[in-house]
Amino acid sequence: MEVKLLDLVAQYDKIRSEIEGAVREVMESQYFIMGPKVAEFERSVAAYCGVEYASGVASGSDAILLALMALDIGPGDEVITTPYTFFSTVSSITRLGATPVMVDIDPVTYNISPDRIEEAFTPRTKAVLVVHLFGQLAEMESICAMADSRDIPIIEDACQSIGASYNGKKAGAFGLCGCFSFFPSKNLGGFGDGGMVVTGNEDIDSRLRLLRGHGARERYYHDEVGVNSRLDAIQAAVLEVKLKYLDEWSEGRRRNAAYYSEGLAGLPGVSTPVTAEGNISIFNQYVIRARDRDSLKSFLVSESIGCEIYYPVPLHLQKCFSFLGGAKGDLPEAEKASEQTLALPVYTELSGEQQDFVIEKIREFYAGREVEPLAGT
Ligand SMILES: *Cc1c(COP(=O)(O)O)cnc(C)c1O
Repeated sequence: MEVKLLDLVAQYDKIRSEIEGAVREVMESQYFIMGPKVAEFERSVAAYCGVEYASGVASGSDAILLALMALDIGPGDEVITTPYTFFSTVSSITRLGATPVMVDIDPVTYNISPDRIEEAFTPRTKAVLVVHLFGQLAEMESICAMADSRDIPIIEDACQSIGASYNGKKAGAFGLCGCFSFFPSKNLGGFGDGGMVVTGNEDIDSRLRLLRGHGARERYYHDEVGVNSRLDAIQAAVLEVKLKYLDEWSEGRRRNAAYYSEGLAGLPGVSTPVTAEGNISIFNQYVIRARDRDSLKSFLVSESIGCEIYYPVPLHLQKCFSFLGGAKGDLPEAEKASEQTLALPVYTELSGEQQDFVIEKIREFYAGREVEPLAGT
């Protein structure tokens, strides 16, 4: 049996005619960049997240970059963030000449640790860039409290967490800016690249709109140097259709996650993901910790089970960031996570037989193997 890590064809099969109709409308209009479809989708995302404003941009990476630009972050400024995330969280900071201050993660949720943030504030801190990893929000209550008390803005990298909530509030609605990605493999994925920045602040929204269109309010009159980062109408049309199904799909992912966690319970070499108090996760990834992780991965791949390591190298140890002076041992929880974690297929359309097969093969791998139990769960 083959089990892909993600099967987008199964999702497309269910909404094919709706999507094709929406895309055809854009083609008939020949209105491809910005325009009414994009404006409609911006309103939909803002309403969905419970935030006033939303600006479509070209990718999640650009959403983060533009949010930092809108806050005038640059050389000499420090941004506190996590090393255990996708590359562009941190590269967006360095691209602006600012300094990322990476702090360690909570080993249970893999999200940035509030205690480590607390220690990292300096007079140069200009923002806290929080990532909601794998579909679950970071511990926003204490993070917001410590940032607010210092008047430091929070930017949320919610690229993996659209629709997730913490104490009833949606990802993206906590910070000054919330950043989303519509990369095809995200829970709300387009037919190409796309992104969005949401904010409750009108001035920030208008700055974002300025910056994404070369800094021009009126065509060919440039107030400042921005970038070309726009959402195109075909993506907006596809995403508007998909947004209606997002909650149902997230429910399916939670159901699949619960099924794995039950099926893998009691295996000494494995610990299953924990949803922290107050959170509703959208399980962008279902990530286990596993003893002999690399051998388990090879075994699963040999059995045609898709699985992936997010992320094999924490960002403080990346070659391109060596100028920041990070060294092995600096951020032990992030480093340990990069050695132990493995993501299993969790997409909505996964069948019970496929999940049983994955569980059976993981159990087979550990059968008769002496492994040290994993602490924690
Ligand atoms: C996907 C992702 C991004 C980047 O989004 P793109 O649309 O691929 O540029 C940034 N941060 C995190 C945490 C992501 O998962």
